[in-house]
Amino acid sequence: MTIKAVAVIGAGQMGRGIAQVTAVAGIPVQICDISTDALDAARKAITGSLSRLVEKERLTQEQMDAALALISTTTEMAALADSDLIVEAVSESETLKTQLLQTLDKLCKPSTIFATNTSSISITRLAAQTQRPEQVIGMHFMNPVPVMQLVEVIRGLQTSDAVYRAVCELSEAIGKTQVSVKDAPGFVVNRILLPMINEAIFVYAEGLATAEAIDQAMLLGTNQPIGPLALADLIGLDTCLSIMEVLAEGFGDQKYRPCPLLRQMVDAGYLGRKSGRGFYQY
Ligand code: NAD
Repeated sequence: MTIKAVAVIGAGQMGRGIAQVTAVAGIPVQICDISTDALDAARKAITGSLSRLVEKERLTQEQMDAALALISTTTEMAALADSDLIVEAVSESETLKTQLLQTLDKLCKPSTIFATNTSSISITRLAAQTQRPEQVIGMHFMNPVPVMQLVEVIRGLQTSDAVYRAVCELSEAIGKTQVSVKDAPGFVVNRILLPMINEAIFVYAEGLATAEAIDQAMLLGTNQPIGPLALADLIGLDTCLSIMEVLAEGFGDQKYRPCPLLRQMVDAGYLGRKSGRGFYQY
């Protein structure tokens, strides 16, 4: 089972990064989104990101041009029907992802593998909503995708060995290191990372320190490359809230309750970098 043609659904910050690293590895990739603005923004962001790599001499101009030539965009899901692998990276909503997978299930050739970049939602449950549960798998990329080395590969209970192997091979082919993880709310990275971010929001809400001071304390005190509140702004506060809700519901444990301030900020449309305002202004 070799993956030669990839599609990414969702041209947000994750989808565009996944498309970029796939194209740089020489694999044709289609990006699909409901919004033409998102598709235009994705193309612009990928071009900017590749140009910076050329400036730093980590990529040649020829490699950049070749990668850009391998990327196409569409708003029509039917155009993805012949893909070997579709990575969905739409917003973190189980209802949305389920509807999307069910639509793809009807449109795509029988051998197409569906990978989801979900940060927390059960792969087993998403897979069960399709007629090809053994071909559904989690590929959890980290943000920003071109920079971060890890892909968590999450097998649902139904995922076949062949699909798992094909996705591990592809992860390596696009320059990532895969870590295999069992299907549980938040998998490994977000099970550990998001409660820390949520706690930082509690600390901020309680007025213990300013956002800058909290981030500075964690930077200097624990040698993290970015403080938890700046990271929340990078991830997107809506995504952070969705992940905490999945953890809280999945484990039924009060320790995962989302900080009320996080919920309020999302209600206010303060989503972090992508909306221009979160714990910081952008
Ligand atoms: P985002 O808000 O930046 O982008 C989501 C994109 O999905 C938007 O462009 C939107 O137009 C598109 N979309 C929504 N509904 C659609 C549909 N029905 N069909 C096609 N496109 C549709 O979100 P993001 O931060 O890129 O996150 C995407 C996924 O990746 C989520 O599941 C998230 O949990 C996961 N993820 C996010 C991060 C992170 O740090 N942000 C890290 C790892 C995984």
